[in-house]
Amino acid sequence: MATTTMPEREVETPTTRATKYVYFFGGGKADGNGKMKDELGGKGAGLAEMTNAGLPVPPGFTIQTEACREYMRRDSVSGDVDHQMEDALSRLEQLQGQKLGKGDNPLLVSVRSGAKFSMPGMMDTILNLGLNDQTVEALARRSNNPRFAYDSYRRLIQMFGNVVLEIPKSAFDEVFDAKKKQKKAKLDTDLDAKGLKEVIDEYKKVVKKHTKRDFPQDPHEQLVMARDAVFRSWQNERAKHYRRINNISDDLGTAVNVQAMVFGNLGETSGTGVGFTRNPATGNKEFYGEFLLNAQGEDVVSGVRTPVHILELEKLMPQVYRQLREITTRLEKHYRDMQDFEFTIQDGKLYMLQTRNGKRTGLAAVRVAIQMVEEGLITKEEAIFRVEPNQLYDFLVPRLDEKSGPVEVLATGLPASPGAAVGQIVFTADDAVEKAGHGAKKNPVILVRAETTPEDIHGMEVAAGILTSRGGMTSHAAVVTRGMGKCCVAGAGDIAVEEKTREMRVKGQVFKEGDWISLDGTTGRVIKGRLNTLPPSPDDPEMLKFMGWADPFRTLGVRANADIPRDAIQARAFGAEGIGLCRTEHMFFAEDRIPHMQAMIMARDEKERRAALKKLLPMQRSDFIGVFRAMDGFPVTIRTLDPPLHEFLPRREDLMVDIALLPYADAKQKKSMVERYRRFGAKGAADLKKVIPTVLRRVEELHEFNPMLGHRGCRLGITYPEITEMQARAIFEAAVAVAKEGVKVHPEVMIPLTATLKEMANQGAIVRRVADEVFKEKGTTVPYLVGTMIELPRAALVADEIAKEAEFFSFGTNDLTQTTFGFSRDDVNKILPTYIAEGILKQDPFAALDREGVGQLVRMATERGRRTRPKLKVGICGEHGGEPSSVEFCHQVGLNYVSCSPFRVLTARLAAAQAAASETLKVEGGRTK
Ligand code: ADP
Ligand code: MG
Ligand code: MG
Repeated sequence: MATTTMPEREVETPTTRATKYVYFFGGGKADGNGKMKDELGGKGAGLAEMTNAGLPVPPGFTIQTEACREYMRRDSVSGDVDHQMEDALSRLEQLQGQKLGKGDNPLLVSVRSGAKFSMPGMMDTILNLGLNDQTVEALARRSNNPRFAYDSYRRLIQMFGNVVLEIPKSAFDEVFDAKKKQKKAKLDTDLDAKGLKEVIDEYKKVVKKHTKRDFPQDPHEQLVMARDAVFRSWQNERAKHYRRINNISDDLGTAVNVQAMVFGNLGETSGTGVGFTRNPATGNKEFYGEFLLNAQGEDVVSGVRTPVHILELEKLMPQVYRQLREITTRLEKHYRDMQDFEFTIQDGKLYMLQTRNGKRTGLAAVRVAIQMVEEGLITKEEAIFRVEPNQLYDFLVPRLDEKSGPVEVLATGLPASPGAAVGQIVFTADDAVEKAGHGAKKNPVILVRAETTPEDIHGMEVAAGILTSRGGMTSHAAVVTRGMGKCCVAGAGDIAVEEKTREMRVKGQVFKEGDWISLDGTTGRVIKGRLNTLPPSPDDPEMLKFMGWADPFRTLGVRANADIPRDAIQARAFGAEGIGLCRTEHMFFAEDRIPHMQAMIMARDEKERRAALKKLLPMQRSDFIGVFRAMDGFPVTIRTLDPPLHEFLPRREDLMVDIALLPYADAKQKKSMVERYRRFGAKGAADLKKVIPTVLRRVEELHEFNPMLGHRGCRLGITYPEITEMQARAIFEAAVAVAKEGVKVHPEVMIPLTATLKEMANQGAIVRRVADEVFKEKGTTVPYLVGTMIELPRAALVADEIAKEAEFFSFGTNDLTQTTFGFSRDDVNKILPTYIAEGILKQDPFAALDREGVGQLVRMATERGRRTRPKLKVGICGEHGGEPSSVEFCHQVGLNYVSCSPFRVLTARLAAAQAAASETLKVEGGRTK
């Protein structure tokens, strides 16, 4: 029995003369079985397993993935494949008492692709293969239903034409739509036999025109062409793209399934449908799905006709319904997981065409896992692996209430940042601010852009959600919104955004500013109109129960990155066991603080600087008090000032523009300038002439060609020790103050960007000196640590040295990735898409930790550091700390904790639990494919 948690077989079938390429299934027995996903693909393994279980499955055979790999290597299959396929075909013909595309009762087959991992983007299935000008007549006579026969034939030409001969779908659609119009037919099913015959004639002309040859009449030729097209489709762009973003190896190849046709389009006692054994959106234990009478294949999902809820089947065909329920319940028990199945009813007889473990939302994943433990289907240990860590995000974001209105999907883009957002369309960041009026809740807007840039940040901040027509999962919009915990659908290519005219066009409809749309960032859907949202449920009792099973396995601590008390409180609610990164500079950007920060930077000497710092001190102290209180009992890592100082001043370009404009400015403009430069000492318009150039001079002094490698990190604290002093004082005064309230406080002061022992010693000495001073003044001491952030390769190399002074390490893997690769994170998106497309890099190293390079530094620094200081506490606080495969790596390397944004804490907890559990339980975590 295959479940997601069982180890997959990893043996490659050797390519010898005796390779078994073709696996038969039918007559109650199959050559293969459900475990053979590597060879048979998911679909083929499922068909074999269902056949062996005695379920009604149309017979057929699977050509295994090795044939595909062979085809990729040398552009054709070996003679063995051809022979084995012909043998299997003869066997199928015998079993069915039919001949492929021959005689009064011709055998027709479907040709279906199927890789190990279910993969949209691969080749579409071809149905009714074997039909030609003769057999279509035989089928018409035999079924006594000419309409059915011609409908099947036109579908074959259409699918074969598109998929194998690569003729655009639209070429066929045009013919079909024109015919429907001409015959005044509303639905596809309204076209009669005669109309369909005419369609077939026109379709053949389309084929001739595009390929300069006739539609192949020889069924065996049809079969070989279709098989090879499936193999080729493994390499098409859509499929490659899907594999890339899902981290599936390009070497696996796909299997091909050839299966006797059953017909759902024989009339009103036939039909076809799809379903789930439980509700994949909510996890409710209910039969869920849709079907259509008198239809074939993809009609159900293609939206040509509106399908009926599967429960209706009970009224229409009670016996078939009961059988379907019985079979699918058995399948679920057998696979011990929720099943997603396909079936067809031919003349009142039920056939199963596919079953697989169903995809589900995070909500459903948790619910189904718990139900199945309670039903005794799976163990608690197995249940832990039934939820992907990233899926837990679903509990922390709002969801669309799909019952609150009609769901008309306008387009589907990438699920760039999960959650739901409903609002009125705006097309620019400024409009967003204006319309939302700084209150996304009061007046929710959706910012719709072709792409976003850093200039849009102010609009993104106030928008309820973001929609872009271009860009991928690592586009600006995607990255920034994920950081904000805000819903985003990116790269919705069907949408045209006309910024100039402030219009969005999609599906022939035009949307203007102010129109309502709803976004589902979890699935990537863009929905017309205004749905309601359901609030996040971070205290969902079932999720808590589930985490209660997972958490005990975890050995890695999980902390959060939080700069302000509000985030710290949130993080704690999600289960954070401390703060791994509190960035002090974020406290300075606030409206009431930045003037003092700027004054400090503009100071001409130490005295002036100290005066400004004195004003900042109480503000920092009160922030720290809030964070310490929120984290009562847990450690809080506070990083001393890190960014280059110019970030706190106006931009050089803006200053130059103001200087140029000043002589021409009218009274009103001057007034606004005075406002802006008041904090730099401008009291009236007369001062501007002196003040602006002074600011510019300072900005130019601070200007660096490469600020990322510039005057920042501990280099600031070393050149301006009074900054470190003030920060240490704020930290310890706050610590002492809350300790007196009875709060258990464990500050960990972290020095950023060290490369040498002496840097660490220099800053460490200041911090310790100030701590002593404060403790003496206040008559109380608190336990604390002084450590460093490892974010330069040199620091990793001399980690044993640095550990002499540093009492803990925390890997700043954002900067460590930048400095190890020499990539600037802010600019890398110019290079990255090419690198990934070319296979130079497999993944964005800023998203998933690069184990080979950066990971080696992490491992080495940890080892070297602990050589000096065996109990050295080591953590990670880069964005990788919330990414499941990076968390797994951190577990393997033996870190003490990971730290991530509050919204990723749950994900990190589960990823860490799975990493530990998969060691003790020896089961596959499922993250490496
Ligand atoms: P996909 O992987 O896109 O779901 P499938 O191979 O499952 O593609 O097939 C597409 C559709 O054709 C499904 O609805 C399936 O049930 C139907 N189908 C496939 N093979 C047959 C067959 N032999 N007889 C009837 N319907 C079939
Ligand atoms: Mg299918
Ligand atoms: Mg850094």
